[in-house]
Amino acid sequence: MKRLLNCVLVLSVCFLSLATAWGAEPAGRNTRNVLLVTIDGLRWQEVFRGAEARLVSKEEGNVKEVEATRDAYLRDTPEAARETLMPFVWRVIAKQGQLFGNRDAGSEARVLNNRHFSYPGYSEILCGYPDERISSNDKIPNPNVTVLEWLARRPVVAGRVAAFCSWDVFPFIIHTERSGIPVNAGWTPLEVAEHPAALAAFNRVSAELPRVWAGVRYDTITAYGAREYLRLKKPRLLYVSLGEPDDWAHEGRYDLYLDSTRTCDRLIEELWNTAQAMPEYAGKTTLVLTVDHGRGREGDGWKNHSVDIPGSDEIWMAVLGPDTPPLGERPGKDFTQSQIAATVAALFGEDYAAAIPTAGETLPGVLAPARK
Ligand SMILES: [Zn+2]
Repeated sequence: MKRLLNCVLVLSVCFLSLATAWGAEPAGRNTRNVLLVTIDGLRWQEVFRGAEARLVSKEEGNVKEVEATRDAYLRDTPEAARETLMPFVWRVIAKQGQLFGNRDAGSEARVLNNRHFSYPGYSEILCGYPDERISSNDKIPNPNVTVLEWLARRPVVAGRVAAFCSWDVFPFIIHTERSGIPVNAGWTPLEVAEHPAALAAFNRVSAELPRVWAGVRYDTITAYGAREYLRLKKPRLLYVSLGEPDDWAHEGRYDLYLDSTRTCDRLIEELWNTAQAMPEYAGKTTLVLTVDHGRGREGDGWKNHSVDIPGSDEIWMAVLGPDTPPLGERPGKDFTQSQIAATVAALFGEDYAAAIPTAGETLPGVLAPARK
């Protein structure tokens, strides 16, 4: 009897090692799902320093309620100011995950494309390399395959990918026609929600509120759609693209740039907590958070971004999840936007950089060495 048991034990061990070697699941990793989130045009300066005092004024930031905005966001130290602006980033991600791009602390992250605006940035994030041909924000289908599309075709993700985006160019960046990935973007009504009355209310508000921008809806609508889709459809890979901070900055409204940034932080926290409340996601989900481009550093440069405005190539990135050691702010000079795609794939146990030689390598140190 004892001999039989030993035999069964040995066989089981053999079978388990084989299953792991064959890649039945990402070897020794905990991540089964990835939430990729971007916040359009949010500067690393606000992420790591909080609100900039100079801009909380009528003259430089076109702030309407100066006293109230000072009370809401200005603090004595950068540490207190940034935690006030982005409490989820600083109380949760910075303590349990990793952050890249704080130039005040010797961490530099940048884009590799030489455009420094949105479509080239999102294509670099999602494809893992810059492409000279992507030279405008026009609604032109992306000639390149994104990591979303690449992973959708791998067994580990098996088509369970979706995107919710505030900006209406995303169906082209993700090339929905070719990729088949569902992308709900811009002012398109939401379709998936548990409670029909809530869905109708969001769609009615979306249809009736004044639209400050024809191509960008409010982030709270995008995030609600993403949360409901996560709960009901359970995608393995969900991309959520928030957009308001960039547009409020272009409007020259520093107060609303700050408000929308704080809202984005809250919406990301809500998405994360929604995932952690579901058995399929709790302890098995990694959040990857980044930005498409920087903005100017000096004068009124904060309002805009381009190759002619210094600082527009400076970005930040963050990762939180069960395979990521809690190292907080990561020093280093060579972090790039091109590394996001391979990092997302690596979380699923896939070697994107090997398959796509033009793609950047996985961000170093984001994944703990796999358990043996
Ligand atoms: Zn912009």
